[in-house]
Amino acid sequence: MALLKEELEVKGLNTVCQSAKRPNIGECFKKKTSTFLILGKNCMRKCAFCAVEKYTPESIDVEEPVKVAKVIKKLGLSYTVITSVTRDDLPDGGAQYFSETVNEIESVLPNIKVEVLVPDFCDRTQSINVVLSSKPDVFSHNLETVPSLYGKVRKGADYKRSLNVLKYGKDGGFKVKTGIMLGLGETEKQVFETIKDIKEINIDILTIGQYLAPTKRHYPVVKEYNDEEFQKIRDFAFSIGIKQVVSGRYIRSSYLAQEYF
Ligand code: SF4
Repeated sequence: MALLKEELEVKGLNTVCQSAKRPNIGECFKKKTSTFLILGKNCMRKCAFCAVEKYTPESIDVEEPVKVAKVIKKLGLSYTVITSVTRDDLPDGGAQYFSETVNEIESVLPNIKVEVLVPDFCDRTQSINVVLSSKPDVFSHNLETVPSLYGKVRKGADYKRSLNVLKYGKDGGFKVKTGIMLGLGETEKQVFETIKDIKEINIDILTIGQYLAPTKRHYPVVKEYNDEEFQKIRDFAFSIGIKQVVSGRYIRSSYLAQEYF
């Protein structure tokens, strides 16, 4: 863990565990799994549940793809997740940097598995194509919550647009993954409806976790789900044919992604 932290600091790189105050930071670092946050720490959207900072977007470090690849090689990772804040300020939403980062990683570690966890790119097909051209092993985009809560907690995003992003990846022949959080005020019926929508696009991997407010200033936790409730929702997802479902209080889409691959 110390080595990874040192490497990140020296190269000015960010991981999601650090930036989003994820609950599993110790475990992921110990297993030498890490999710790299490219394109800066500042997001242009303002999701009410998210700990990522929301300020003016940072300037792009054009060397970042090479730096990320070097760190991953040095740490000997066999699986990595590349994600970013939402960069609506960039004409392609940062797609080119996703693609370059995947290409750089695969050029130094040909056997590594790379997952990209992308923003919605405002549904720009051209941007999604650029990312897919790098042939990631998993194409991931998080729905985060049920559609009725988007206006409240996920301003600037659009549920149908996010589903389209996932469908586009799936139709392109990629392994596709999404994640939702529970506890933001959704009803059970809404959760089941959302899972049905997810099944409609033939998702490969679904993660379901408990929303944990990063600070008191963030959106409050409306409900704490217990193990039986997670089990019931997982069973429902399996029963309608989703093949891989991981659910539980501390589950996050990038948490131990290698094990769910
Ligand atoms: S778009 Fe993503 S990174 Fe930005 S605030 Fe929302 S959840 Fe956080």
